[in-house]
Amino acid sequence: MLRFSAVRLGHFLPSLLLLVGGLLAASLATLNEFFNSLFNVLPTLLLLLGGSFCMVYSRQRELFLLLTVYLGYFLLDSQTDYFRANGRVRDDAALIFHLCSLLLPLLYGLYAAWQERTQLIQDLIARAAVLFAVVGVAAALEQRYPTEVLTWLADIRWPALHGAWMSLVQLSYPLFALAALLLTVQYLRHPRPLHAAQLVGLLGLLWMLPKVFIEPQALNIMSSQVMLMIAVAVAHEAYQMAFRDELTGLPGRRALNEHLQRLGRNYVLAMADIDHFKKFNDIHGHDVGDQVLRLVAQQLGKISGGGKAYRYGGEEFTLVFPGKTIEQCLPHLEVVRAAVEAYHLQLRESAKRPHDDQQGRQKRGVKSAGSVAVTVSIGVAQRQAAQPNPEDVLKAADKALYEAKNAGRNKVMALGQARRGAVRVTAAPA
Ligand code: GH3
Ligand code: MG
Ligand code: MG
Repeated sequence: MLRFSAVRLGHFLPSLLLLVGGLLAASLATLNEFFNSLFNVLPTLLLLLGGSFCMVYSRQRELFLLLTVYLGYFLLDSQTDYFRANGRVRDDAALIFHLCSLLLPLLYGLYAAWQERTQLIQDLIARAAVLFAVVGVAAALEQRYPTEVLTWLADIRWPALHGAWMSLVQLSYPLFALAALLLTVQYLRHPRPLHAAQLVGLLGLLWMLPKVFIEPQALNIMSSQVMLMIAVAVAHEAYQMAFRDELTGLPGRRALNEHLQRLGRNYVLAMADIDHFKKFNDIHGHDVGDQVLRLVAQQLGKISGGGKAYRYGGEEFTLVFPGKTIEQCLPHLEVVRAAVEAYHLQLRESAKRPHDDQQGRQKRGVKSAGSVAVTVSIGVAQRQAAQPNPEDVLKAADKALYEAKNAGRNKVMALGQARRGAVRVTAAPA
């Protein structure tokens, strides 16, 4: 299933910036001494740093992607070094270059599309075996039958499809196209930063290869950038794992705590809690409960008025409004409360789920099609002298939430306006 709605520019942004940075750097006729030296050591440095990071965190896929790019860089770099030192290419330059043009998209595409398995050691061994087999066979053939391999590689198999612009061996292009297709489908099925980075990285390699002997720093720069894309994607996903709640996609408790530490002297906190959610789970099952939780999170995520929503835990959410007063926030909270109330989740018909077993269906409790809805209660509190810390304000918001529940639920209640009592808000923002 393709998930177009989960596609995010943010998944591509770091890699695209690195790609553009690489293109700009490579387009400069000469880099200064500093950048020259930097890009000469960067691929090796990235392999060591990124590689050890991937090993520690069992990220085999990224490790082998780094290895593949580095291997291509290493082989081609020895050629360009010779070219620069002697003013002519080495005897085996064409053979090595063509082999790299073929194997780089092949191995890169393969490792990028090869999802990780749970058995780490088996996964690692399988990936290493493929690398040794492919590189070993290629090296053996290249040593034993250099002329035949070169002729085979350089052969133009489909003259009708050959363009004058094609500076790589013809076979390389279908491999790049196939890898691009695989990685695009993979990203659309599982939109995440790594899959986006892999796709942009492939484009970087396609741009780089024809320039190896033409633009002096293209190889060093783009290999570094592609390896950086992979490394940054690993860091990006690690950050997401730590700060984003997986079920709802909202930032989680850790991100909330960090935000709370950075608030100034004026802010408002609201606690939102789904009404009778335990009962809802009991009736409709936990997976419908999870869907509802996602929908509520989606509505809360749209909060206007400068607010930001976090999943506090369970079916509770926190909304943070920096620099605002309660009066400014209440109408916006009322809008999301009403939006949650108005949202009806369509349940799937059990007949439409032929793969479910009887037991699973009973457990989930979804017997017929229909729609369900939930409501939320929201308690709001503002920072003031009597409650100077975020923890105090949160406690006050929780108290207000308790009052909202007692007052019949599906309400926004404020506490802390000089404690003269809670206020029920019905007005929407103008
Ligand atoms: P109240 O209106 O007083 O808030 O009633 P409640 O039933 O919502 O309150 P309570 O806090 O007792 O119940 C919270 C329930 O939320 C318990 C649990 O079944 C459910 N819940 C918490 N986290 C999740 C989750 O991640 N997924 C699902 N499906 N349910 C969850
Ligand atoms: Mg609760
Ligand atoms: Mg609840």
